[in-house]
Amino acid sequence: MGTKGREIVGLDVEHLLELLNQAYASEWLAYYQYWLGAKLIKGPMKDAVAAELNQHAIEELAHAALLANRIIQLGGKPVLTPEGWGNVSPCKYDAPKDPYVAVLLDQNIAGEQCAIAAYKDLMDATKDKDMVTYNLALTILEDEIEHEEDLQSLREDLDLMVERGRK
Ligand code: FE
Ligand code: FE
Ligand code: MG
Repeated sequence: MGTKGREIVGLDVEHLLELLNQAYASEWLAYYQYWLGAKLIKGPMKDAVAAELNQHAIEELAHAALLANRIIQLGGKPVLTPEGWGNVSPCKYDAPKDPYVAVLLDQNIAGEQCAIAAYKDLMDATKDKDMVTYNLALTILEDEIEHEEDLQSLREDLDLMVERGRK
């Protein structure tokens, strides 16, 4: 822990650590949801979609690393167990029970939308109070916005393809 670095945080550090741990837990769940979905996926465009899911998995894991580093820097402890991820995360884990492309895309779009709302909240909570976490949340938010758009455009392509195939 850096003492001066912690001292300049202008909001309750224990509360901030809770918010950071919620985000950290969500990133692990998102990572696993993408990673497993990419392996199970079935249906039209599955190779293109699997490639995007795998790329996103890597990026979610990188987000988890950024958050763990910030938590440790502030003297906190990242969630210690996988069971803890489910308990702490505001965004739910949606198991890829149905491996059809459209279903996986919809589940992951919902996950990204939850993440976008959560990072917006983290930015609101840290604005003018903790520039370091604010900046970190912005960096991750930019990725989540990109993820949502990537998945929504694949979803659109899939709809077009299925629709044209019927004619
Ligand atoms: Fe993420
Ligand atoms: Fe994401
Ligand atoms: Mg992408």
